[in-house]
Amino acid sequence: MRYLITGGAGFIGSHLAEYLLERGDSVILLDDLSTGSIENIRHLKNDPRMSYFLEPIENRHVLAELVDEADVIFHLAAAVGVKLIIEKPVHTIETNVNGTQLVLEAAGKKRKPVFCASTSEVYGKNTLVPFTEDSDLVLGATTKARWSYAASKAVEEFLALSYWKERRQPVVIGRFFNTVGPRQTGRYGMVLPNFVQQALEGHPITVFGTGKQSRCFCHVKDAVEAIVRVMDNGHTIGEVVNIGSCQEITIEGLARLVRQRTGSDSPIRFVPYDQAYEPGFEDMVRRVPSIEKLERLTGFVPQTSLVSIVDSVIAHFDEKRREPVIEARASLKA
Ligand code: UDP
Repeated sequence: MRYLITGGAGFIGSHLAEYLLERGDSVILLDDLSTGSIENIRHLKNDPRMSYFLEPIENRHVLAELVDEADVIFHLAAAVGVKLIIEKPVHTIETNVNGTQLVLEAAGKKRKPVFCASTSEVYGKNTLVPFTEDSDLVLGATTKARWSYAASKAVEEFLALSYWKERRQPVVIGRFFNTVGPRQTGRYGMVLPNFVQQALEGHPITVFGTGKQSRCFCHVKDAVEAIVRVMDNGHTIGEVVNIGSCQEITIEGLARLVRQRTGSDSPIRFVPYDQAYEPGFEDMVRRVPSIEKLERLTGFVPQTSLVSIVDSVIAHFDEKRREPVIEARASLKA
């Protein structure tokens, strides 16, 4: 099979490409490197079954060509990360909604199946955990930028589901919960890479709010396996599926775990939300997926323990910290 991955040089996209190549498929990656990085796919560049195009998704001609060449499309290109969303809400809304519309339009001409990446953000402030796919979306005021992301993702979901209902365009929606692992950058505010970098550098670990808020962290390799199984399965078209793990931990607990696993003596510093994000910022207290549907449809539940997840992120940043030294040594020898 040949897969088109939009956002293929991103954190999840690059792991997905790796997985598909390893099992013998071909992949075409489309990425404008806005949040992705060529570093993420450098190790795949010599594989003859991989091709990549550094173009914005708005380049309709390129998109149409690539959709034509593919059997299945994973649409992962998006503006992500709470920090980025708050700093650049216009960019977030436009990139996400327009990108999805363009992919659906292009795929719709040939009825190519599309996986649309959505997010657990859409459940918003709903407090009835665990969240099932038919739970209510509870969003805050439109004056709070955070909710623009959830609302734009909800619009994408409505659009995709409408393409299926009205035009029989095959779509599947995956709602990613907190997905973490090697190659995720802390630049856009994600908690685990930030904590690990802070701990390794001996800086204070910045816990926002009280630290009593909790999340469930899923290793990116598990998330990738889940979405591939979702698309391999013929019974998921027109469905919304939570993609995540149920290992819940408070953010303060995560900070302590990171400190312990890195052996760091960084202090933990509590930072009020309005300093970390913007005045009036609203966070969700708990975010826990129900993964019953994922298991029922695919027989798969995430496998990686929280400790292994944290260790894999530590190993990644450790390696990155050593890279410049190795490169400098190599150039000295040369
Ligand atoms: N967070 C934190 N310190 C950081 C980054 C994030 O305490 O340096 C908190 C954030 O406020 C949220 C949780 O960690 O409560 C998860 O944040 P992330 O942005 O990774 O994902 P979210 O669940 O908010 O989408």
